[in-house]
Amino acid sequence: MTNIDVDSFRQLLEAKKNELLSGTSDRDEILIQNAAEDFDRLQQQLNREVAIRNLDRESKLLKEVQAAMTRMDEDAFGVCLRCEESIPEKRLKALPWAAYCVSCQETIDRQRAAGEVVEDDSEAFELAAA
Ligand SMILES: [Zn+2]
Repeated sequence: MTNIDVDSFRQLLEAKKNELLSGTSDRDEILIQNAAEDFDRLQQQLNREVAIRNLDRESKLLKEVQAAMTRMDEDAFGVCLRCEESIPEKRLKALPWAAYCVSCQETIDRQRAAGEVVEDDSEAFELAAA
């Protein structure tokens, strides 16, 4: 375990969580406006797709924030989930919900880009169902 100041990170995570939970502006865009003119319809559809994408990203981030807070409760915060090394405090300051150290994150990103990782495919399912 590292000697990082968990409490200060907990505050950062709480703040981020509240910010994500209170973000309601995008949700308004998702409501379909029945009375739309044809001329506006395409633009509205685009807005809606962007809003859904943002929501998708935000809900994913919210999950990551909550997972980080769970790791705090389990005294596992700041430890890479993959290699179990300490995540540098500098990285945690930039990304308090980081679950992996930089090198593991890069490996995972590379594998995802290559379509090799299937363990986290919930997002693909959600998109397919939409
Ligand atoms: Zn790692």
